[in-house]
Amino acid sequence: MNALSDPWLPEPAQSQKPLLSVVIPVYNERPVLPLLYERLRAVLDALDGIRHELVLVDDGSRDGSGDYLAGLAARTPRVKAVRLSRNFGKEAALTAGLAQARGDAVVILDADLQDPPELIPQMLDAWRAGADVVCMRRRSRAGETWFKRGSAHLFYRLLNRISDVDIPEDTGDFRLLSRQAVDALEQLGERKRYMKGLFAWIGLPTRVIEYDRAPRAAGASKWDYLGLLGLAFEGITSFSVAPLRLTMGAGIVTALAGILYGLWIVAKTLVLGDPVQGYPSLISVMTFLGGIQLISIGLLGEYVGKTYFEAKQRPVYLIRDVVQARAKSKLHAA
Ligand code: UDP
Ligand code: MG
Repeated sequence: MNALSDPWLPEPAQSQKPLLSVVIPVYNERPVLPLLYERLRAVLDALDGIRHELVLVDDGSRDGSGDYLAGLAARTPRVKAVRLSRNFGKEAALTAGLAQARGDAVVILDADLQDPPELIPQMLDAWRAGADVVCMRRRSRAGETWFKRGSAHLFYRLLNRISDVDIPEDTGDFRLLSRQAVDALEQLGERKRYMKGLFAWIGLPTRVIEYDRAPRAAGASKWDYLGLLGLAFEGITSFSVAPLRLTMGAGIVTALAGILYGLWIVAKTLVLGDPVQGYPSLISVMTFLGGIQLISIGLLGEYVGKTYFEAKQRPVYLIRDVVQARAKSKLHAA
């Protein structure tokens, strides 16, 4: 799609300037939205030499965020509200937002103001200096427990070690992508989208900028530890088959141990004349092996399940409607 030919964008005199899109996934963020918009407005209006559009994706919120965004978009030029048909998760909401963004540069931002919009000019400078991806690395994570920080650290170490993508540690989805990077992302056809991994997978010249992550402006995080654990597992299984290799390794080790143990029993019986001791050792070996087998089958199932979901080729998200100042269109599939 050509941004320059879009009738919805203002003043022809301005249309030679590049376009910045700011994409924000929103799920039950009603209390922060006015403040978010106010802070964005201040930053975006001060930008020089670049036009902007706001793409706000309502990920099936139940607290009226969707209606608020639709209202905002209906009366504000250059604001687009994309309402998904239900809650699809942040990764899907981001995918929807990126597909709707027409900017030459696209900035992705959390709605809860943990990612300060005031850094956008700095990101744009890096983009103008030639970076296709400008990653924002958290120098500090105010308002997050040491447990969350520690587990995140361990997770990135692990994932980078066992996969061939290199995800910079302590970077989230807060980043700027050039048009080329966004188009590259769109070519990755997987349904289960672990965005941090996909961002890393595409490569392209990347700049990392450090910043201090603010605590949430209002509301509560949508993630609990179980959810994060799920996301971590998703990340690992999407980008690595190391767990499968690990089960094979475990299989080889236990088989070897079994052979050695067998030989030991034979030797003991022949040389020392010991009667065979059966029940307790039998049970412990059986339960141990049973456990290993079940874990392996479960892991295998995880990968088979992934293939199953990909094979269905369902859209990543479904749009209920797109609201913008002068047009309203209904139900598209992604
Ligand atoms: N989010 C979303 N869909 C979801 C969960 C979250 O669009 O199902 C959005 C949420 O509104 C916020 C961003 O993703 O803009 C990050 O969510 P959150 O702040 O809860 O995550 P955290 O910062 O704690 O990692
Ligand atoms: Mg947050």
